[in-house]
This record gives sequence, structure tokens and C-alpha cells, in this order.
Amino acid sequence: MTISASTAPKKQHLIDPEICIRCNTCEATCPVGAVTHDDTNYVVDVEKCNYCMDCISPCPTGSIDNWRTVAPGRVYSLQEQLGWTELPKQEELSEADTAAMEALEAEVGALLADAHKGSGGKAVAPASAAKPSVNLFSRAKPLTAVVQGNFRITAASSESDIRHIVLGYGDQQFPVLEGQSIGVVLPGVRADGKPHDIRLYSIASARDGEKRNGNNLSLTIKRSAGGVGSNYMCELKVGDKINITGPFGSTFLMPNDINANIIMICTGTGSAPFRAFTERRRRAMEGAGGKLVMYFGARTPEELPYFGPLQKVPQSLLEKHLVYSRLPGQPKEYVQDRMRKHGPALTKLLRDGGTHVFICGLRGMEAGVDEALSDICRAAGLDWNALKPDMRSSGRYHVETY
Ligand SMILES: Cc1cc2nc3c(=O)[nH]c(=O)nc-3n(C[C@H](O)[C@H](O)[C@H](O)COP(=O)(O)OP(=O)(O)OC[C@H]3O[C@@H](n4cnc5c(N)ncnc54)[C@H](O)[C@@H]3O)c2cc1C
Ligand code: SF4
Ligand code: SF4
Repeated sequence: MTISASTAPKKQHLIDPEICIRCNTCEATCPVGAVTHDDTNYVVDVEKCNYCMDCISPCPTGSIDNWRTVAPGRVYSLQEQLGWTELPKQEELSEADTAAMEALEAEVGALLADAHKGSGGKAVAPASAAKPSVNLFSRAKPLTAVVQGNFRITAASSESDIRHIVLGYGDQQFPVLEGQSIGVVLPGVRADGKPHDIRLYSIASARDGEKRNGNNLSLTIKRSAGGVGSNYMCELKVGDKINITGPFGSTFLMPNDINANIIMICTGTGSAPFRAFTERRRRAMEGAGGKLVMYFGARTPEELPYFGPLQKVPQSLLEKHLVYSRLPGQPKEYVQDRMRKHGPALTKLLRDGGTHVFICGLRGMEAGVDEALSDICRAAGLDWNALKPDMRSSGRYHVETY
């Protein structure tokens, strides 16, 4: 433990390394540069954090929302936090320190209550989800994978180049679950000479592989103009070797309960984990009682990844709602518009304690979906502002946006 010079107890803001998906949102949001990271962990500098709470609501996992009261001179240094694989327990405080903290605890508590209104609270894994393995491989000790396939899954005529990339890892062990992500170590360095940050990609295949028991996995990657990582990945050829890290993510996980209803709301590459969920149900949960319902938005069918294969997935396995915002001669429609049209069916599901909501895709989509769910609930006499935190804390409401 690093001893600091301060003489009063502190409320120290910390990030849970087990839950954090390394999405960089907090670092990009923090107005005072208190959040930093290395190849393994995101951490908060206690000397810089001013409790503004700007980072709490945008964090998709709630891993940023962790606090420890630390006795005078006993704050956790950045170095210590960078080495953590889990958060330390709250240490016992002296009576004097506890008393000295009363006012600050109340102040921080009030600020957090406000911040939580936006986020719906901390992410919790579905109660029935399998226990994930996390952080098995890092930049210092990556897993070398071999490219087994790289196929375009949007129409050649569309501007949107999205790829289905298959990576094999031979006889090496890399256990993953549906909903988790992997990191990619990029070759070369940035303009400032430092290594590129790890890029994260959601796993699009089921836990037993893209090919059953093939010891491989698949990814769904969109080429971003000028983007370093996505262009590197989209240019890969069969036989190329790449270094990967992870797996990451311990809350955005598929429920193992065959009776769970899963409402999946996505745009673009946000469909990747839901491809994994659907494949898992098809392979391992035949005759499942729970429904899989997907709202999937794209500009046009040509830009919707997996459009062809999706047409072949039976409605009995996956209730698909494909929604387009740029069809010639048609009014724009977004996922939240279609959800509004299905208000009674959705509220019937939301009233069921076995229903989970998963949202994945571009940052910014959550707000429109949230508003739609709020309106749908209101019309049915339900209070979304109460239901959402309840679903979140019971592991039934999950968001992963980037
Ligand atoms: C948990 C998580 C899961 C994710 N899952 C997926 C996934 O399944 N599939 C997926 O595709 N992505 C996913 N992402 C996003 C992914 O990690 C990358 O952020 C994304 O691929 C862009 O990275 P990049 O290196 O290509 O872009 P960067 O080099 O990081 O550039 C960032 C942005 O700046 C723009 N830009 C950069 N240079 C220029 C330039 N010269 N001119 C114009 N624009 C420029 C790029 O277009 C890009 O949009 C995920 C992210 C997270 C956090
Ligand atoms: S998951 Fe939360 S804590 Fe982790 S990097 Fe993203 S915003 Fe930060
Ligand atoms: S509470 Fe504010 S200052 Fe502290 S880490 Fe979050 S955004 Fe930065």
C-alpha cells in the first residue's frame, strides 16, 4: 500500500477490473484527466478526481462506480490499481475516521444518486449465466490466433464494409462465453511512438466455436474510414497470425436459463453478440420455452450485416424485426419506432420476471431506446424509471455501446 501525505480520510473512486470492458468511455469523458489506463486496467487518480460524476452514467458496465473509504495517508496508488485483478475489500476504519467521513459520504451519496438516474445502476450478470474467464491473455502475454476466414457480410454495392472474421487458436485454451469480447494487439506504433491501444471486438460465435468444437471464434467488424484497428482486421488474409487479449466482460452474458425471454436491440456490428446468443440457443437449448426477440436496425438491407443468413433463421427460434432508416421512398424508421409499434407485446414480456433486455451497438442508440421503453411502459401503467434499475440490479438489463 502506498502511503500518501494526506491527513484526512478520503472517498476513493475505483474501477472494478473484473467487470470493466476497457471501452475507454470514462477516460474520454473525464473532464480533468483523472482516468488513465495501461494494457491491462483502467484506473482513477485519487488526487485528480473531483467527484464530478460525469463518468458514472456513460459507463456501460457500472465498473466505474466503485468507492472505498480510505484512512488518512492510505490511498491506493495508480501503480497498485494497475496491478489489480479484483477490487480490494473495504478496510475497517477507526471511529474517528468514520465520523470524519460522514459529511463527505452524504455529499458523494447525493451526487451518485443523481448520476445513477441516467445509468440505471451497476451492471450485474444474469443469475443463470455461466462463470466467465477474464483477462487470460494480455499485451505482455497475448494469444496468437490464425485467421481462418474473412468474408464480407454487407452487399458489395453498399458503402458499409462489414466483415465476418474467423480466428482459430489451435490447441491453445481460450474459453469464452456469448456476450464477451476479445482485444486485438495492433502492429506498429502511433504518431507519438507509443503502442496503439488494444481494440475490442465482440465475439459473434457460440462458446463452442464458430465451427462446433473447432477451437475458433468469429467477429463482426466494420471498416471505419481511417480507423487503424478496423482496417487492419478487415485486410487480414487466411493464414495471417494476430495477437489477441482477453476474454473481457463478466456481466453482458447470455442467460443459461432456457425459459429466459431475451429482447435484443442492436444496430450494425452490435448484432455480433446476438448472433452468438442465437447460435447458442439453436445448438444447446432445443425446445427452449423462452423467446428470443431481436430489433435490428440498419440504413438499408444492403448495409445490414448477415442479411442473407438471417432470412433463413426460423421465426420460431428468433423473432426478427429488421428496421431500415434509409429505404428509398419510405419514411425513416429506427429500432425505437418499431418497438413503439409493438408496445403491448413488449410490455407483456417486460412484466415477466424472466425477461432480459440487451442493447448493443453505436453509442447514442441507448437514449432513443430508453425513451421508447419509457413511453411503452407508461402506456401500459408500468414505471420504466423503477423497472429499469430493478432489472439492472437483478441482472436483466444490459447495455454495451461503443
Ligand atoms: C466492448 C466493445 C466491443 C466492440 N465490439 C465491436 C465489434 O463487434 N465490431 C466492431 O466493428 N467494433 C467494435 N468495437 C469498436 C472497436 O473496438 C473500434 O473502436 C473500432 O473498430 C474503431 O477502431 P479503429 O482502430 O478502426 O479506429 P481508430 O483508429 O481508433 O479511429 C477512431 C475513429 O476515428 C476515425 N478516423 C481515424 N482516422 C481518421 C481519418 N484520417 N479520417 C477520418 N476519420 C478518421 C475512424 O473512422 C474511427 O471511427 C467495440 C468496442 C468496444 C469497447
Ligand atoms: S467499462 Fe466503464 S470503467 Fe471500464 S473503460 Fe468502459 S467506461 Fe471505463
Ligand atoms: S468522477 Fe469526475 S473527475 Fe472523477 S473520474 Fe469520474 S469524471 Fe473524472
